[in-house]
Amino acid sequence: MKDAGLNFDNSWVRDLPGTFVELAPDAAPDPRLLVLNDALAEALGLDPAVLAAHPEWFAGGDLPEGARSVALAYAGHQFGGFSAQLGDGRAHLLGEHVAPDGRRWDLQLKGSGRTPFSRGGDGKAAVGPMLREYLISEAMAALGVPSTRSLAVATTGETIRREAGLLPGAVVARVAASHIRVGSFQFWAAREDVAQLAALADYAIARHDPDLIGREDHVVAFLDRVIGRQCRLIAQWMGLGFVHGVMNTDNMAVSGETIDYGPCAFMEGYAPGTVFSSIDRNGRYAYANQPLILGWNLARLAEALVPLIPGEGEAVVADLNARLSGIAGRYRAEWEVVMRRKLGLAGEEPADGALADDLLSAMTGADWTLTFHRLADAAEGDETGLRGLFEDFAAIEAWLPRWRARLDKGSAARMRGVNPVVIPRNHKVEEALAAAEAGDLGPFQALLAQVTRPFGAERGREAYVLPAPKGFGDYVTFCGT
Ligand code: AMP
Ligand code: MG
Repeated sequence: MKDAGLNFDNSWVRDLPGTFVELAPDAAPDPRLLVLNDALAEALGLDPAVLAAHPEWFAGGDLPEGARSVALAYAGHQFGGFSAQLGDGRAHLLGEHVAPDGRRWDLQLKGSGRTPFSRGGDGKAAVGPMLREYLISEAMAALGVPSTRSLAVATTGETIRREAGLLPGAVVARVAASHIRVGSFQFWAAREDVAQLAALADYAIARHDPDLIGREDHVVAFLDRVIGRQCRLIAQWMGLGFVHGVMNTDNMAVSGETIDYGPCAFMEGYAPGTVFSSIDRNGRYAYANQPLILGWNLARLAEALVPLIPGEGEAVVADLNARLSGIAGRYRAEWEVVMRRKLGLAGEEPADGALADDLLSAMTGADWTLTFHRLADAAEGDETGLRGLFEDFAAIEAWLPRWRARLDKGSAARMRGVNPVVIPRNHKVEEALAAAEAGDLGPFQALLAQVTRPFGAERGREAYVLPAPKGFGDYVTFCGT
């Protein structure tokens, strides 16, 4: 039998004793693959046909050779409150697959059983939320946003109990640059274990910023890199109208990838206060708050790293404070880069930021995705599509000439390359997941094919392009528990 191409290393187990518990995923009574990401498998040097012959690797059961299954410990601020003891409560890290190009990818199962970190939870996941993670993470990757990827979703053959009733259990196999979270550092900072904290920092630097190894200021430089990656990431989210929904510090990866797709969703009509998650009652993680939470979470990372930073206490804190105060400006610069691209502006002019701000003020209520998509037509003189998005076109009409003055011949083409026409629309996601839960994967596969080709013309894909019908109402999402 041909081998799958899996090439496991287990550096976490080797380098970070004390930060995990080694235990196997639950064995699934009837493992079956629902979806397998052939393209991702091939990009990682894996043979999809061999993977397809081993649903038990994905649903939980026999592990592929070389895997060492562990649940990682971490801490985190959840909705602002600190928990010193969190961790993978329903996930098992199988190890790192080292691809033929030498890149190292964590392979993790989620929904694969209880661990010592499960607290009250059952360690399981339902098929809907796992397909949701697969769909949205693959959409994000296709949109050019750093993200964990989904290799497969498998059903376990178990039935699990949720508020909605008894549901089929499933596991998503996810691939990540790493699973090191802000909360991973908080775990050892809370225990005042400087040796463990230092080992984790060295490990994270070796994986994500190896050029910093050996530098005396490596910890501060690492913090600076994480700040840079996260500012770029959140700016990309904002440009796409993406609302993560649970930006707890345990859901923020130092790799700069989007991680932990739970109650996330894409905004349709532009409204800064957009919240989808049923548990986010105060709007802490609302669309427009994400850049503020970014700064808040990075401040928690900086605090956790303090014991590792050489120098006199007050000077260290003053330096960190200066870096933290700089985040708002760094984020704003990244956001302006995103907005210049979305608006087709070449070069950089001082008034560009205000131009973007003023568009936002003028577009309240208009569909976020389609406004930018149709602005490309407007750049070529056709405003019909754009007009159709606004109940009152007066404000945008006053803004258009200022924008036109900044355009050039290539603007429309560049805009079409960055402004998607298809995003995972909430009503389409719900429709696809409902059908999948009832045993029909057709709508899911069709939607997946659409959201992984997010750019191009509207014609021929209207069902995926247009906003939810009015009757769909306000969209509410639930954590995958
Ligand atoms: P989240 O905010 O979805 O990333 O989850 C927060 C924490 O709850 C993580 O530590 C998860 O491992 C844990 N968790 C979520 N769902 C379950 C479940 N069904 N069983 C056990 N732990 C869970
Ligand atoms: Mg999480």
